[in-house]
Amino acid sequence: MKLSIATLFLVCFSNLFAQDSTYTKKIIETLCSKKMAGRGYVNKGDQLASNFISKEFKSIGLKSFGNDYFQEFDFSVNTFPGEIELLYNGKRLVPGVDYLVDPSCPSINFKGIAKFMSIQSLDSVNQYDIWGGKVKAAVIDTFNNKYFIDAAINLKHYVSDPRNQLIIKLTSDKLTWSCSQKQSKVPVIILRSDIFNRDSISFFEIKVKSNFIKKNVSRNVIGYIEGSKFKDSFIYVTAHYDHLGMMGNKTVFPGANDNASGIAMMLNLAKYFQINKPKYSIVFIAFSGEEAGLIGSHYYVEHPLTPLSDIKFLVNIDLMGNGADGVMVVNGTLNPSEFQLLKSINDKEKYLPEIKIRGKAANSDHYWFAQSGVPAFFFYLMGPYPFYHDVNDKASALPLTNFDQAFSLFQSFISKLQIQ
Ligand SMILES: [Zn+2]
Repeated sequence: MKLSIATLFLVCFSNLFAQDSTYTKKIIETLCSKKMAGRGYVNKGDQLASNFISKEFKSIGLKSFGNDYFQEFDFSVNTFPGEIELLYNGKRLVPGVDYLVDPSCPSINFKGIAKFMSIQSLDSVNQYDIWGGKVKAAVIDTFNNKYFIDAAINLKHYVSDPRNQLIIKLTSDKLTWSCSQKQSKVPVIILRSDIFNRDSISFFEIKVKSNFIKKNVSRNVIGYIEGSKFKDSFIYVTAHYDHLGMMGNKTVFPGANDNASGIAMMLNLAKYFQINKPKYSIVFIAFSGEEAGLIGSHYYVEHPLTPLSDIKFLVNIDLMGNGADGVMVVNGTLNPSEFQLLKSINDKEKYLPEIKIRGKAANSDHYWFAQSGVPAFFFYLMGPYPFYHDVNDKASALPLTNFDQAFSLFQSFISKLQIQ
């Protein structure tokens, strides 16, 4: 193929200013690979992911504040490293697809009959009828969480032998998992309600191995680019790399949208600003412990590597998988002039179809910074993507619609921020 000089120039020019799609896919696929174990606290998933990100920081050429890019901290977390199995009337169900183990669940070794109970029957329950006979576990339809919690608390008093205590919570919602810093006393399984037959006898065999880690050590990954003009004024770009890890030794929650996609966006921005040096210094942080309760960012705010007062603006990035409908700006209402800047860039360049605004929300790592007086935006893309905190949030499922455009918008916004 023959290319004219003008075409060649255009190709080079556009490459300089676009994110690299091949690189983006490679980052997301690596972070979502089986080896990374869902970037949680089983099979060293978080350690492997932080090693990988640190290698990327190094190859991009980011500076580190210490000898390496890591900041260690610890927190307690409930994990499921062993085999888990659930048989319902002799049929083996699929973890993550048919049922979930409640994130705070203790170990279970259960074999017995479970009885369906309505909330009403729990209120007027004859304790002996339920627990004195053959029935060892309760199945509850949880149309309302508050009732469920009350019911669970009540059950504790009804059951005489704690080894028989088990609650199976039926749900017609999508199976959405999370991460717990605590281990509860009562085992809870969340089962798809369409699988369960209320009218027949239900025999369950359930094995779950839980491991509560009191001091789980994890790491934030931190690097920076020195500003060409204002070295001591910092813009922060952050994204969490941790996800939910594994539920048992086979079921992985890959976390492609949440938040391998955000790490890919952050690394693309780091690559861009390494070549196109910014006026202000830019710190890039890949946080851990977000899913367990914004722990890595909380630790950082308490142990910052630059004074918090020198952070002039922070951009936190999460859920970059589909931007078909535009971007949401959390904290947009708190920082009206920066929101105006973002909007004016987008109005001019037409990167994304819409820029939506929200107020304060404690839904990602920008939160602790904002609480400490650091002006911050949290960007998440909007567009149809049905998978969230489930086994289907895979690299291959991500459309990455408007990822390029979002990159250009964020890059331009960060380049144009005016701060002292
Ligand atoms: Zn997230």
